[in-house]
Amino acid sequence: MTASTGFSDRITIEQVRDARRLIMGVALRTPLVSSPLLSARAGADILLKLETLQPIKAFKIRGAANTVFRLDPAKTRGVVCASTGNHGRAVAYAARARGIRAVVCLSSLVPAGKVKAIEALGAEVRRIGNDQDAAMQEVERIAADPGWVDVPPFDHPHVIAGQGTIGLELLEDRPDLEAILVPLSGGGLAGGIALAAKALKPTIRVIGISMARGAAMAESLAAGRPVEVAELPTLADSLGGGIGLANRWSFPLCRDLLDETVLVSEPEIYRGMAHLLLEERLLAEGGAAVGVAALIAGRVSVRGPAAVIVSGANLGLEQIAALASGAPIRVGEMLVSR
Ligand SMILES: *Cc1c(COP(=O)(O)O)cnc(C)c1O
Repeated sequence: MTASTGFSDRITIEQVRDARRLIMGVALRTPLVSSPLLSARAGADILLKLETLQPIKAFKIRGAANTVFRLDPAKTRGVVCASTGNHGRAVAYAARARGIRAVVCLSSLVPAGKVKAIEALGAEVRRIGNDQDAAMQEVERIAADPGWVDVPPFDHPHVIAGQGTIGLELLEDRPDLEAILVPLSGGGLAGGIALAAKALKPTIRVIGISMARGAAMAESLAAGRPVEVAELPTLADSLGGGIGLANRWSFPLCRDLLDETVLVSEPEIYRGMAHLLLEERLLAEGGAAVGVAALIAGRVSVRGPAAVIVSGANLGLEQIAALASGAPIRVGEMLVSR
């Protein structure tokens, strides 16, 4: 089964407040630090929200914990998902914290290093088939058994409300924010933040930022309905993948609440990552650096204090070494440099 929602058709700020109470102690209340260099460039206060400090090095622990912690460990046989990346880590971490078994289904092509990282967090990895579709079918098969719960990566009210807790923290720390720049993939993060921030401050602008290569939500918003987009290799790999043709929650939220979507190129993402590492001394994976990338490239202009969500730091050492030395990074068949 899919985690029951308890919602009729709308997610509210009360659900976000409730999420915050539930996930306190597992997810960190992250700092919002100012960047003098970016502020000087942008002509306004630029503040970085460091979700890279979360225990799994990405914000996804918020939504996963808000979903998993609602399950009764005595009645739940296990939770299951299909993600090699930050969602898989988040589900594994939250399940272990709650004393619930976690199974992560992965294609047999996923590299051993990623499998080890998930296993190290206490989840069982099930290798199946040669692509993501086969892994997702296995999730459906397992979740059809009573007592097993599928935790989706973005299109679920508890996940979205969990990510929305970032919006609460931002406006508590800086009620004067004029804009929030948010990495955008499935839209759980951007939708949740926009929902919370606009409930507290209706005039705030929320800008979603994706890579130009395979921006499923941006293309869906332009089309007015969820559409399929070819997945392409990108430095922002944590923003890859579709939004689901049957999307129920995150697409309408992004459609109704995002003020703008902005796309950044691969060299722009490289420069965003390099700026964070070299100038701010902060680690950010490609998908987490798109906000800084958009600012540096001049694709977003802000009229007042703006927060940039730095969403995760799960990048390989070879990428860090390349950024530090100014060398190109291999992405699929491409070499990306500054
Ligand atoms: C998942 C993820 C995102 C995008 O979140 P969505 O809710 O899918 O839009 C952004 N950054 C990082 C690091 C992620 O892992």
